[in-house]
Amino acid sequence: MNPASSASCPASVKISGYFGCNTFDDRAMREKLPKDVHKAFREFQRKGLPLTPDIARSVAHGMKEWAMEMGATHFTHWFLPMTGATAEKHDAFITWDGPGAVIERFSGSQLIQGEPDASSFPSGGLRATFEARGYTAWDPASPAFLVEGPGGKTLCIPTAFVGYHGEALDHKVPLLRSMEALSKAAVAALAHFGVTTARVTAQCGAEQEYFLVDLKLALQRPDLLFASRSLLGARPPKGQEMEDHYFGSIKDRVLGFMRDVEVECYKVGIPAKTRHNEVAPNQFEIAPIFESANLASDHNQLLMEILKRTAEKHGLLCLLHEKPFAGVNGSGKHVNWSLATEEGKNLLEPGRTPEQNLQFLFFLSAALRAIHRHGGLLRAAIASAGNDHRLGANEAPPAIMSAFLGGQLNHVLEAIECGNAADASEKRLLDFGLARLPQVVKDATDRNRTSPFAFTGNKFEFRAVGSSQPIAFPLTLINAAAAEAIQELTQELEAELAQGKELNLAALTVIRKTVIDTKVIRFEGNGYADAWREEAERRGLPHARDTVAALGSFEQSDSRDLVVNLGILTAEEWEARIHIRHEQYQKTLAIEAQVLREMAETMAIPALLEDLRLRAEALKALAAVGIELSPALRGALAAQAQLVGQAQEQLVALKAAMVFAESVTDLHDRTRAFGTAVKQTQEVLRDLLDQAEKDCAAKLWPMPVYRELLAPLI
Ligand code: ADP
Ligand code: MG
Repeated sequence: MNPASSASCPASVKISGYFGCNTFDDRAMREKLPKDVHKAFREFQRKGLPLTPDIARSVAHGMKEWAMEMGATHFTHWFLPMTGATAEKHDAFITWDGPGAVIERFSGSQLIQGEPDASSFPSGGLRATFEARGYTAWDPASPAFLVEGPGGKTLCIPTAFVGYHGEALDHKVPLLRSMEALSKAAVAALAHFGVTTARVTAQCGAEQEYFLVDLKLALQRPDLLFASRSLLGARPPKGQEMEDHYFGSIKDRVLGFMRDVEVECYKVGIPAKTRHNEVAPNQFEIAPIFESANLASDHNQLLMEILKRTAEKHGLLCLLHEKPFAGVNGSGKHVNWSLATEEGKNLLEPGRTPEQNLQFLFFLSAALRAIHRHGGLLRAAIASAGNDHRLGANEAPPAIMSAFLGGQLNHVLEAIECGNAADASEKRLLDFGLARLPQVVKDATDRNRTSPFAFTGNKFEFRAVGSSQPIAFPLTLINAAAAEAIQELTQELEAELAQGKELNLAALTVIRKTVIDTKVIRFEGNGYADAWREEAERRGLPHARDTVAALGSFEQSDSRDLVVNLGILTAEEWEARIHIRHEQYQKTLAIEAQVLREMAETMAIPALLEDLRLRAEALKALAAVGIELSPALRGALAAQAQLVGQAQEQLVALKAAMVFAESVTDLHDRTRAFGTAVKQTQEVLRDLLDQAEKDCAAKLWPMPVYRELLAPLI
């Protein structure tokens, strides 16, 4: 059986035998393109240059031939609008061939550039409606792939989405620009260390967490369907206290799902590598092998789609929300980040010689400076209504951006700090412990799961990203902050060299200064502890507790300058993104409030009233036959009636809060109105309903309860 044509992959089929079979990858290109075109394309790709029209046309022709041979009937430009969800519009591979007849044809240029009706994608005010046109342009760094649906195959061409005047309307364009800026800065820095390379690439591996719920149960819960999280539901008697789910054996039904997900991933070239149970019941993780940040971003988007689609085939609902269930752990996405030269040398990997380690420490300090200078911005990058339920909640890193380096690397930095760099000789470099670095940091046992930025031996792990968020935006800002820091450190290095210092000493001087400057963000302790919050405050680190507070960092001039000066976004493009972040936050809260209102009004409260009525009737009937009633029975009924009454009052308050928030016109005030009035009223209502649910007759409760939703999937 050919796994490419079936979702179920027999265990005997080797992954390498079909990996990427549905992508127009190098293997397919070699087959389909003239030799010189293939060579030229590789060269463009290597250097990260845009394709010339001739080469592009020729590649597009090959792509079309390949896709049609593979059975594709439609094609789509696949892109990442600022909503965060991927967008596609399918076009058939046909054109008129005389009256009433069609033939399969379309031009190569259609593959390279498209013009979707873009007016309904958010532009944050970038594109007036009369100029609604936007263009999608193929990103040759990300291979085209085929998606198999029930109706046939569709060729998906990863594209960048730009406005009529070239404005970036998506998440890909700024990501590509940030990678370019980072590459330029790193290549220039490396030259001083005697390393010549054409490009430096930001690399990323994103570990994705998710929940699975039985679809039949989920269909009875409007909150799971429309808000991707439960908006009410009393906590189960057994949550995750037993911690027996984490890394436990995977149930067959889930394993079947995971295998299908992996087969789908492999076919489109996603290098899925690990799978396991997570901490919470019915929570799981899938992690790929790292790739270039651009590919990793496309692949993570695609992975999220595959997870959702495959789940439905298995009668499951995949929840990517950061906190689907109150009282059990939420889901994140660990974005692992590093830098590699074109030759594949990881710049965050300690070297074998003291000199190589100096270069490693140079890039490590640049990363520390990036986090130090732009901690607030990085916090804002991952701020969302969903992530607010998770950050700082003893299950995810706090909303304070700090970096963990591990005891031994910290020790090296402390030694550098204490040493007098001004008269450091080669011998003293060794004394600082640089020569011993390779052995010490490869010790992977040194882990801190509570830090938002953990250095894990040869990469940073940004652990605060939410599970449903596109990684492109945080990656863009990490790259930008790193590019700026590398540029600055290089300038400082050049200034030291200009004073006649030899390289090692000059580099050490710059590293030492940076280590001292950025010391406040280094934290090795327990990030979940209250003591850290107090300590961070003493250190003056920004602490935006929620999205409303975090979004303010976008407005700061050093945030805007960072992206504008590096050419990643124009001031207008930056403003547009801020606008959209606010809108998305407001919309999410509005949807949640509406869904909860409806569930309370049409499901929960009627059921609770019915329960009260039946109980009252039962008591009346007992009294009628002369049975003396225990005061406890009357008391319970009265207490429940009071609770339901309070819930009804809170429901009225929620409606009023929604009307109020909707009436606020100023963007920032409106965000605040949703984040305070609406959110708080909603939380109180939920709390009341959850209490009432506990005492309602089980058979009357009109939706599956937590116990059922979180029951093991067998
Ligand atoms: P864990 O964090 O669970 O210990 P690993 O360290 O093996 O697991 O890797 C976690 C993720 O980090 C994977 O997606 C992996 O591909 C990615 N990763 C590993 N090395 C790098 C690197 N140099 N740059 C970016 N990501 C990396
Ligand atoms: Mg990890």
